[in-house]
Parts: sequence; structure tokens; C-alpha cells
Amino acid sequence: MATNTLDDGETDEYAETESALETALRQLSEAAPHVDVDDGVIERLKHPTRVVEVGVPLERDDGSVEVYTGYRAQHDDVRGPYKGGLRFHPEVTAEECVGLSMWMTWKCAVMDLPFGGGKGGVVVDPKDLSTAEKERLTRRFAEEIRDTIGPKRDIPAPDMGTDAQTMAWFMDAYSMQEGETTPGVVTGKPPVIGGSEGREEAPGRSVAIVAREALRYYDRAVEDATVAVQGFGSVGANAARLLDDWGANVVAVSDVNGAAYDTTGLDTHAIPSHEEEPEAVMTYDAPNTLTNEELLELDVDVLIPAALGNVITADNANDVEADVVVEGANGPTTSAADAVLDERDVPVIPDILANAGGVTVSYFEWLQDINRRQWPLERVNEELESMMLSAWDDVRAEVEARGLAWRDAAYVVALERVGSAKAARGLWP
Ligand code: GLU
Repeated sequence: MATNTLDDGETDEYAETESALETALRQLSEAAPHVDVDDGVIERLKHPTRVVEVGVPLERDDGSVEVYTGYRAQHDDVRGPYKGGLRFHPEVTAEECVGLSMWMTWKCAVMDLPFGGGKGGVVVDPKDLSTAEKERLTRRFAEEIRDTIGPKRDIPAPDMGTDAQTMAWFMDAYSMQEGETTPGVVTGKPPVIGGSEGREEAPGRSVAIVAREALRYYDRAVEDATVAVQGFGSVGANAARLLDDWGANVVAVSDVNGAAYDTTGLDTHAIPSHEEEPEAVMTYDAPNTLTNEELLELDVDVLIPAALGNVITADNANDVEADVVVEGANGPTTSAADAVLDERDVPVIPDILANAGGVTVSYFEWLQDINRRQWPLERVNEELESMMLSAWDDVRAEVEARGLAWRDAAYVVALERVGSAKAARGLWP
């Protein structure tokens, strides 16, 4: 674990594996000198507004009772309600939730959405629970954090280990207790109860759009590009399939068991995504297979890490042969790896821009819920495309104007928006 200090972000030594909070704080410290934002504002942004911890008792199917720990971290709401996902994962910690909530603040600001940053979760392996147990756990967690959240206060969404069904149970539990149907309390719901068309595919779609723009920026056509994708869940599978549809050669995709590899290009629609059939990538009849580590080292035009955090580290950053890295997961590149890739002139398009399609369509969903009017899929995808392109342009302008790496440029865009909102509102009292 970390031995480095984070307050000043100035130490040169990086920990082998950083926590999300350590990475987020270091990124903030690295970007801060590039913006004209008051030191007091930067200091405030190093700390969350609050972190709520709750006990979540669950009656198991066998009648025994277990108590799980849940969290909701709220980083900043100067631009609007806290917004961000809920994880069901055995490694959820309060610190991880805070780091991820900071990334949500920047992600929403890069996209110019009227939201701040939040993140939460329950320390549980959802694979150990039956569907009925998951439902009871979700409902009780919703009740335990009911006072903390709300459609104008803090709006959760799916994240690792949660999905549209989880959001439906959550919305129902909240609505039953409040005495009124409140679709806007969460996003990522099934469309039949106020979810948005296209929300499920949105993070993968934005990764594909950003990968296409990055290729264009570096004078390549998507039709000539080779792509490797780590992770075949919602983000990885949707990104891979869209790039495949646009003519790219997706040569490798993986799940926890390893990668299917075909230099002539995989049929990405024939490989089941995690949602369609868990851990089924290796059932595809590919001419070659690779380990997840080998996939990260493929000599491709675009590498998309879309599984876990901290997969590109000081140990393997020198072996990354891709021309561009587009971050599908949240936090797949450690600070040490970022520094190595920057040194080697390998551009890394950051998570807070690349996978921001999820929260952007969450915003569309929230608007649809307020208006009680559903948008057709075409409108969702058109508005997503146009918002991704304008965020891409804002970040590109900073890359060009200041000669910054893409992550620092995205932070500059976000920090200027959050910082100027804080300056305008002032510090109360
Ligand atoms: N969990 C997603 C993310 O990390 C989506 C958050 C949301 O839609 O609020 O961006």
C-alpha cells in the first residue's frame, strides 16, 4: 500500500498500487497549478462534503442474518446534486468511495452537466447472494441512506455489481417510503419505469466515440485501426461492438478468464457480453488466446482497459505497445503508469472524459423523469454524440493551448468550471 504523502502531491515516489483516493488526489495536485483557481478552493476540493456509513442487515434465504457495511460519499455539489454510481463489491471501502466520488465531480464538470460528484456501495460479493437476497439488501440499503439521497440532492446509478434491476428495487423502496413514485431518485432504471433508452450502452458508446475522435486527432481512420479491449461487461462490450460496426479491427477482448485473440478481427457480436452470459469470452472459437496481462501489451492502435482499476501500473506501463489508451474503466491507470506513458508519448484519454457517456445519459434520464416524457433512442444518441464532441473539443483545446497531457487537460476544464462556481457562490458563512 501507499507510503507516499498526498497532501502536497509532490513526492516523486509512487506506491505500487494506489487507492482511488490517492490517485484522485495526486491528479488534482498535478492539475491545480495549471488553473487560475484559488488555493482555498483547491483545498476544499481535496475533501468530501460527507461520507455516510450504514449497517445493512440482511436475512439470508436460510434464515440467518448478516450485516453488511454500506457507504455513500458525497464529494461536491456546487454545480448541482451529487451524482454517481453504487457498487456491490467485496473491496468497497469508504476511501474508495471518496476517490470515485471526486472523479464523478470532474466527470460531470467536463461534460458540463449540472451535477456534482457522489459514489457509494455495499461491501458484498453479489455472486454470493441469490436474486431475492440482492433485492432485500438493495431495499434495506436504500432505506438506510434515504435521508442522504433524493432527486434534488444525490442521485445514485448503476456501477460495478449493480444494474437496471438493482435501480428498480432501489427506486421502489425509496418511493414506497416517501409515499410517492419518485423515478428521478436514481438513474439507470429499466425504461418501463422511467429509465432512458440507450442508458445501458452509453458508457461504451462514449468510449467508442472518444476512441474514434482520438484516432482522427492522430491522423488515423477508425476503419484502419486495430483495437484491444480488456473487459467484456457493459462498457467493454458496447465499445468493442460499436468500433467493430464502424469498421475497426477488434483483435482482442477479454474477461476474467483471459482474452480471445484474432489478428484478422473478432466477430464482437458473436461473443457474449458479461450481461448476456457471464465469463463466456473464452467459449468463443478464437484462433488464439491471451492472458489479460498479454492483452495490455498488444501492439494495437487503441487499447481500452474497461474492466478494473489499477491494471496499467509501473510494472507494465513500459510494455504497453498501443498508440493510444482510452480508459473505459474508472481509474485503470495508476499515477506511476501515467507518468511512464506520458514520458513515452503514449496519449491516455482519461476515464472522466471517455466513459462519461453513462452519466450524460443519466442526466438525460433525470430530465425525462422531471418532465415525465420519454425520449426516443435516436434523440438520446444524437444528444450524447453532440455532448461528447463538445467535451472532446473543450479538452482538446486545453491540450493544444497548454501542451498538457489529456488527463491534465480534462482536469483543467473541470476545475475551471467547479472553481468558478465556487468563487461565484463564495464560502458560507
Ligand atoms: N457509475 C457510472 C460512472 O462511473 C455512472 C454514474 C451515473 O450515471 O450517475 O460514471
